[in-house]
Amino acid sequence: MLDGLYKPRAVAVIGASTKTLSIGYRVLENLRMHDFRGPIFPINPRERSVRSFRCYRSVLEVPDEIDLANICIPAKFVPKAVEECGEKGIKFVIIHSAGFREVGEKGQALENEVLETARRYGIRIYGPNSQGVMNSDPEVSLYANFTFTPMKPGNISILAQSGGVAELLNLNLERIGVGFRMYGSNGNASDISIDELLEYFGSDDETRVIMLYVESFQDPQRFVEVASAITPHKPILAIKSGTSEEGARAITSHTGALLDVDTSTDVIFEKAGVIRFHTQEDLVQAAVAFSRQPPPRGNTVTVVTNAGGPAIQATDQAMALDLGLTKLSGKTQQALRECLNPMSSVRNPVDTTATAGPDEFGPIMKILADDPDVHSLLLTLVTPFFVDNMGVAEQITGALEGCGKPVVATYMTNENWAHVIQKVRDAGIPVFDYPETAARVLAAMARYVAIRDRDPGEAETLEVDADAARKVLADAKPSGDGFLPAADVTRLLAAYSISLARSVRSTSGSGAAGAASDLRFPVVLKVDHEDVVHKTDEGGVVLDIPDAGALERAVAEMDTRFAGRSIAPAYVVQEFLTGGREVIMGLKDAAGAGTMIMIGTGGIYTEVLRDAQFRLAPLTRTDARSMIAALKGHSILAGTRGEPSVDMESLEDILLKLGQMAGDLPEIVEMDLNPVLAFAEPGRTAVVDARIRVRS
Ligand code: ADP
Ligand code: MG
Repeated sequence: MLDGLYKPRAVAVIGASTKTLSIGYRVLENLRMHDFRGPIFPINPRERSVRSFRCYRSVLEVPDEIDLANICIPAKFVPKAVEECGEKGIKFVIIHSAGFREVGEKGQALENEVLETARRYGIRIYGPNSQGVMNSDPEVSLYANFTFTPMKPGNISILAQSGGVAELLNLNLERIGVGFRMYGSNGNASDISIDELLEYFGSDDETRVIMLYVESFQDPQRFVEVASAITPHKPILAIKSGTSEEGARAITSHTGALLDVDTSTDVIFEKAGVIRFHTQEDLVQAAVAFSRQPPPRGNTVTVVTNAGGPAIQATDQAMALDLGLTKLSGKTQQALRECLNPMSSVRNPVDTTATAGPDEFGPIMKILADDPDVHSLLLTLVTPFFVDNMGVAEQITGALEGCGKPVVATYMTNENWAHVIQKVRDAGIPVFDYPETAARVLAAMARYVAIRDRDPGEAETLEVDADAARKVLADAKPSGDGFLPAADVTRLLAAYSISLARSVRSTSGSGAAGAASDLRFPVVLKVDHEDVVHKTDEGGVVLDIPDAGALERAVAEMDTRFAGRSIAPAYVVQEFLTGGREVIMGLKDAAGAGTMIMIGTGGIYTEVLRDAQFRLAPLTRTDARSMIAALKGHSILAGTRGEPSVDMESLEDILLKLGQMAGDLPEIVEMDLNPVLAFAEPGRTAVVDARIRVRS
């Protein structure tokens, strides 16, 4: 519970100063200016008073109880100040001062000292190197922060890993006249974490929307847990930056190569039900709409314009984001027709033409508000000189009031009509500059509803022999990089009944030629050597070998090619499967986020095409289905140009088993099944090449 931090009854400012250019001055001044509801105690051994407040030499001299201390003194004095806070019984300390972990080893040592002291007294630390917190609740009115944006009560809460971004988001809300509820930017996050703050904002009844900016997840699993509990009843709109940070990391699998930071962010947000944005502009605009408008009850938009072109742009943008255009019924079109001049268009987008005035807009808005097919409204208007534009705004806002559908607007006009825009905004309808923005915002609202109402599906456990697989891992002798020998890979897949194309392995070329008698021609010959990662690239795969003579020749060639290696190569002879459609599947331990399960199409071009879908394990069948459905190459699997669909269930089963494997066998860090050949006939789907890397 962070009430002592966000709803303190009394606060101290340690380092309160009379110097106007200091943080100690600014924090005190902000608390005072914004009418903090409780007593404020400046602490400064050199002053008798600061502003009109009596000053104390130490918190220990303050006669009253204090819930929250703001520390604004140089870093080296902070440990002692925290010690005194402990003695005083203060439970929350915001450290505004910098000079800790962010400056290197010495700072880290100071930070550790502070944390150790805090732990001893049961103090929670916010920061250090942090802006502070704000709570605009008029009952509290806490501006414990050194920034400058005025505090105006609202229902959007702002949480950011960067003070600069937090302030910018707030500033942009302020520019359009929108207030905020709670605000947090916790600097080094040495103790109170973003996840904890998120949970607190989630539990605040007056917060309708949370705007979040993250640079890195401290504990992705915890984040998913916390956010998933919030998003069913409150949208979290987020930006994650720094998406290229891991680009340079050594990558040893295809699955790993496809799983960049950007993709894993998408997967984490998806699991948590968080709506992701890529620009602050869209984030702010969407937050305003979410905070003032109800979520839509369906996935379509009705566009109304008096100016043609912009409506088409809005429509294009909406369609590009899977927000459909409402099909207006004949009855609705007829009703609209009766209100509008004959030149108007009554099909969506509805174009009233520029001459439409209050008498037209009032009734048509009522018709659309009452039509259950209309899920959301996007108004894109100009302000013609020959129309009573204020009258139009009054009619629109009057007719749509309480209609229970999200409405957003764009006005293409100038300063002369600012009062008209204000009228619309005052009614809670967000007004944007561009029609595309309005469409993006409505699309985000529809996406939120789809995520909120999605059916996660039932947990399903397929029968596998996890104990046998554990035994394989316990006995395995992985290579230096942690790759399992081919024989162990085969056994491990068998334990999970993931079928592998029939193969015979042999440690000598002559053995390989003989082994083929166990299989039916045509066959495939593959080299098996721990140094050979991409067999094809090194001439280590020969496909479609028709008979024993050809196999002998292929073996002889490979023997020559791989002669002179420190370890002699082994060979695998495998049945040649024709007519399968190739997919890649895999899993990857994703540093702290859990294990990601992947499916992709494109064969050897998967990385170029980047057609892969990831989800965090464990998976439900619904997850597995939606992963396959989301592939760009889905229709190749589902059958195109007269081909039948491959047996999807066998692919789903492998995905589910990989999900189970992630839980059963945490030693596995990466696995590529590349390719899996999928066939229309159930039971024929088989893995022909697999690589598994375990923690070394
Ligand atoms: P690598 O990926 O190390 O080059 P693979 O065993 O994946 O080696 O073989 C390369 C390609 O050859 C596969 O992607 C697949 O297209 C084809 N292939 C391999 N084994 C078989 C098989 N048993 N039946 C049909 N095609 C195969
Ligand atoms: Mg391969």
